[in-house]
Amino acid sequence: MTQAFLSREELERYDRQIMLWGRDVQLKLKKSSVLVIGIGGLGSPASIYLAAAGVGRIVLLDPQTVELSNLNRQVAHWTPDIGRLKVESAAEKLRKLNPEVEVEAKAVRLTEENAEEIIGSVNLVVDALDNWSTRFLVNRVCVKLGKPLVHAGVKGMHGQLMVIYPGKGPCLQCLIPKPPPEEEKFPILGTTAGVMGVLEANEAIKLLAGYGKPLIGRLLIYDGLNGEINVISVKRRENCPICGALRGNA
Ligand SMILES: [Zn+2]
Repeated sequence: MTQAFLSREELERYDRQIMLWGRDVQLKLKKSSVLVIGIGGLGSPASIYLAAAGVGRIVLLDPQTVELSNLNRQVAHWTPDIGRLKVESAAEKLRKLNPEVEVEAKAVRLTEENAEEIIGSVNLVVDALDNWSTRFLVNRVCVKLGKPLVHAGVKGMHGQLMVIYPGKGPCLQCLIPKPPPEEEKFPILGTTAGVMGVLEANEAIKLLAGYGKPLIGRLLIYDGLNGEINVISVKRRENCPICGALRGNA
């Protein structure tokens, strides 16, 4: 059970960010919960920063085990972790980083059957996936349950990020109506996933804390090769099969 106040240790741990937003916002973070789906290149940095910032309950979801070729980017997993479940490897690091937060490790794949129960148990979802079919499932369930979703995708030295806030802006299928072809294996530089995973944590923290302006209806495009970041506006599609029926701002 999460305490409804910040201990002396917590006040000291979070001192530099409490300077930014005050104790009430910090307490709000402590009372919130987040689901990180995929504990790989995006989910590693995202979950590390969510834990460091003091998000009270962090649920990690990933059925896979750590492989040697993951280690150029999946920074929550280290060489001795090869062969371990990713959620257990990451949960151990997060608990050591911040024992004040509750970390749950779920070594399961998100499916049509379990998605509503798992997503329904948290305040916000971080899409740290590497495939479009699961992303589309997550988008659909988040819209249905009214849960904010932070989406990011990466490849090579490029990334994209958008916040889906049901009823307040476009959903993932407004942005990408049909799932792109799946790629079993694609090139990725660790820093690309690092940048985008940290940006996901930044958006998640802002939404949970009610602080700052989230990237709702705005797609951030990162080009690490040429050192450029652009933000373009994205509109809701009135005929979107997922969110078209919701009322709200375009
Ligand atoms: Zn939509």
